[in-house]
Amino acid sequence: MRAALETLEATFQGEVIEPGQDGYEAASTTVLVSGHPAVVLRPATVADVQAAVRFAAGNGLAVAVRGGGHSFAGFGTNDGGLVIDLGRLAGAEVVDAGSGIVRIGGGATWGAVATALAPHKLAISSGDTRGVGVGGLTLSGGIGWKVRKYGLAIDALVAAELVTADGGVVRASTQENPELFWALRGGGGNLGIVTAFEFAAHRTTDVFHARIAFPAAEAEPVLQGWAEYLRTATEDLTSVVVFANPFAGGPNAPVEVLSVVDTDDREAADAALEPIRRLGTVIADEVEPRAYADVLVDAPVPPPGIRLASRSAFVEREQVPAALRILAEIGAAPQSPVLAVRAVGGAAAQVPDDATAYAHRRAELMLLTTSAGPAPVLEAARPALDAIWDRLAPHTFGAYANFLSGTAESDVAAVYPEKTYERLAAVKRTYDPENLFRANHNVRP
Ligand SMILES: Cc1cc2nc3c(=O)[nH]c(=O)nc-3n(C[C@H](O)[C@H](O)[C@H](O)COP(=O)(O)OP(=O)(O)OC[C@H]3O[C@@H](n4cnc5c(N)ncnc54)[C@H](O)[C@@H]3O)c2cc1C
Repeated sequence: MRAALETLEATFQGEVIEPGQDGYEAASTTVLVSGHPAVVLRPATVADVQAAVRFAAGNGLAVAVRGGGHSFAGFGTNDGGLVIDLGRLAGAEVVDAGSGIVRIGGGATWGAVATALAPHKLAISSGDTRGVGVGGLTLSGGIGWKVRKYGLAIDALVAAELVTADGGVVRASTQENPELFWALRGGGGNLGIVTAFEFAAHRTTDVFHARIAFPAAEAEPVLQGWAEYLRTATEDLTSVVVFANPFAGGPNAPVEVLSVVDTDDREAADAALEPIRRLGTVIADEVEPRAYADVLVDAPVPPPGIRLASRSAFVEREQVPAALRILAEIGAAPQSPVLAVRAVGGAAAQVPDDATAYAHRRAELMLLTTSAGPAPVLEAARPALDAIWDRLAPHTFGAYANFLSGTAESDVAAVYPEKTYERLAAVKRTYDPENLFRANHNVRP
């Protein structure tokens, strides 16, 4: 490997970071996981990415591709392999202000993108956190504060350029390599390293951000009423309920309904929020206009040694009452993980299930548990977590890859229904027949 690395270094314009060198510790670690790779490459150009891929394949190295480094499963680093950190490919350029076409580097983060687009009054439906990568979030779907109005992040994607396992460069859109384009919109990092994404951004104004909270004892009626209201509410409203947060009182933590109303008209925002206030006894009611870029937050980075575990599933309409009843019971018990319910209907549900490799469009809600602690503590809590999900199982389906720490075959099967998996595997056979890119919810060629 040494000779190959020296050959690579002769033309590599980015950084090559090896154990013992300055910056190695930081370069080995993602936001959520630490690792000990043999080498970290930080490409500065597409040619660097091509060289990195050929170097990995030629030396039989396991590859971890890192965008924003927020993968709950820890895909952004490894032990003894190669990390390709895309952080230097982070540009965000407005290609055509009229049509809103923007070109974004494969290693950009959503906060930087929102900030870059703000002066143009443009935005892309993405996530809720500034540091999350455009790469990871987009390739598995992307559920954010405008999902009910503008759909998933992939719904605004118009093209992508990627380096495939043979080191070649391929462009995908509805016109160019359309099957690859289908696969990229949900298939995670399975198909190659995306060096640039092109999105059709939408015009945005400031939006209203709201936090309306209720007592823990009212969790069930609030959840049920909220889900029912969201079914007919304006698509300007996107909303998430968070409760049972152990850091805010566990079973006594307030039930927080967090919403964004995609309008700068206060009356319209109030009209959208008023039915939420009527769901129970309001104990906090904070509503303020914000630039869209300021709606995205900086998530706290967990202290060293603390892992976050995330698990998710979807709920379709008929199962909503039963799923929420069980969820409220779970939240009322001690030792519950943080529970969150995201509304994912609206525009996201207008796209057919098979139009992209994200195949859970019919869902009305996504349920999410998050647990935090040192790895042994999380391991010890696993049976209790499994019991929670076993109770929910009759009322849920699938899983959202971006909120899924597990990487077992059953996890991959939850992310990709059988037909989706088979179609993805066929694309994988074309672009990555040796499964070089397997640090992901892996689709085997
Ligand atoms: C605090 C926090 C908040 C979050 N909020 C949201 C949210 O609001 N909505 C939501 O949908 N998700 C959210 N997520 C989940 C997030 O979308 C996933 O963790 C996602 O995988 C992170 O992408 P990343 O690029 O930051 O991570 P990374 O760990 O860098 O990458 C994740 C995966 O994507 C692959 N990948 C990344 N970039 C590329 C690329 N350019 N080309 C090919 N493969 C690539 C990696 O190889 C890896 O398999 C959140 C996660 C955290 C930790």
